[in-house]
Order: sequence, then C-alpha cells, then structure tokens
Amino acid sequence: MRKLINICGTSRSGSTMVDLMIGNDPQAFSLGEVHAWFRPFRTHHFNIICSCGQINCPWKKLKLLNENEFYEKCFELLNVNILVDSSKNLPWVIDNNIKALKKGIKVYNVLLYKQPVNFFYSFWKRNVPLKHARKKEFVKYYKRFFQTGLPLISMDYNKLVENPEKTLKSLCKLLEIPYFPQKEYFWTKKHHQLFGSIGTRKQVEASNSKIRKKEDYPKDFENIIPKIKMDVTKDIAFQDLLLNLKIHELKSQDFISNNKIHKPVWYYIMKIKQNIRQRFPEKWKYIQ
Ligand SMILES: [Zn+2]
Repeated sequence: MRKLINICGTSRSGSTMVDLMIGNDPQAFSLGEVHAWFRPFRTHHFNIICSCGQINCPWKKLKLLNENEFYEKCFELLNVNILVDSSKNLPWVIDNNIKALKKGIKVYNVLLYKQPVNFFYSFWKRNVPLKHARKKEFVKYYKRFFQTGLPLISMDYNKLVENPEKTLKSLCKLLEIPYFPQKEYFWTKKHHQLFGSIGTRKQVEASNSKIRKKEDYPKDFENIIPKIKMDVTKDIAFQDLLLNLKIHELKSQDFISNNKIHKPVWYYIMKIKQNIRQRFPEKWKYIQ
C-alpha cells in the first residue's frame, strides 16, 4: 500500500533527520519541506537547488507537478511506495491528510518533540528568547496540532538520538515499513530533500557522519537549567501538552480512534497569510 509519512513538530525538533532516516530505504523517498515549493513564503523557495548535484535529479520532473496531483505522481515517477514529507506546516498537513485519504493513500503523522531543557537549548543557542520559544513554538504548535484531530504517533527526539536503533525500529513497526540494520545511518543514501535543516543536509553531503547522542551544554546555559526546569514544572499549559505527547508516544496511530479532521479558525487565517507571503516573500539570509 502507498504510504505518505508526515514528520511534524516545531522548528528545531529534528524533523529533517527523521525524514531522512525513514527515507533511507530503496522503496522510500524523502521529500523534505515540500510545502515551501508549492506555497512559497521566502525568496529561496522559488527555486529548487537540490544538493545532490546530479544531472538526473528527480526534482527536474517533480517540480513540474501541481499540488493536487503531487503525491500520486511522485509514487509513479519515483517508483516508490513510501513518501516522507517534513513540511510540518499545519494547513499543509491537514490538506494532504484529507487529499491522500480520498486517493487511497495511507497517511501517518509522526509528531516529534524534545525534552524541555533540550528544546529550550535549541533556541537559546540561536539567541531566540526562551519566552518566545515557549509561546510561539512549543505551546502554539502542539496545541494547534491537537486541535486538528489528526491521528498521530509522537516520538521523543532525545530518545531517538540516545538509542537510534531501538527507537527507529519501534517507529518502523508502527508505520508498517521495513527496518533493516543501520537504517538510521541516513547519510548512506543519496537524498534529494527540499529545504529543512542546513546542519543535517551537510551531514548528508559529507556522507560519513554520526548521530550526536547528547549535546554538551555551555556553562552559560548550564547555569540557567535549574530555572528552566522550575518554570516548566509550574507551567500548566506546557505540562498538559507534554502529557498529551507522552500518551501518544510510539503507540499505534489508531490508539485513539480516527477522529474527524478539523480545520480550526487559524487554518483559514494561516492560509490567507500564506497567500500574501507568496506575493511578498520574505528575504532569507541563510543559504539552504
Ligand atoms: Zn537532487
């Protein structure tokens, strides 16, 4: 059966890496953040510059497809039965779940999250204020995800990097896709994923790599860890979301029966904003 696997989560949740791990299979293809190609919002989204450097890069054909036929044609053109999409953008994920369902494609939604201290570190090291990371990333994203009623399998990114083999094996079982030894060595396959994490992309290009188990926090950050832990413990909204994420952790997607998919008000607002952004895209200083 043809499968579409969405990798969801906040920014810096490790979605590019998980996309590539699942895509590391001759029967699979990692699309990356494909929503940005069809619904561009930054200037660099208007061009596909695949890091593969191959003359016969599959994006030469794929980029000509339109949004409505995209996944169906991808299965045909790439001759695979698993597509991995790490767009994360919720209106896109809602739309692709609904469309795929109609076309007999089975959809899985993997929702990634990090342990609180590690989550805050990902933003702290990029000079993002922690209040902003809490409100605009963690609370906003996961709250909205749960409002959609989308079926999901959640996965703790920190557990994945601590024990990639065991965790990926469990995930593959739930996704009903094959696991083989060293599937987690995503850099061993030539990928063509769009956009996403620059660091992970570099790992693929280097084609020899390793999964970093634990990050060594600098002293400045170590000093604020007790405060972060205390704030998180007292934060009811944060705790509620964490609890909900844990309930779904590496459990079958049908663990809570397939609810109806909802389109909350923010779905329509985000779509209007995206239309405007498409006309007036943001300049992005990072080269992808
Ligand atoms: Zn390519």
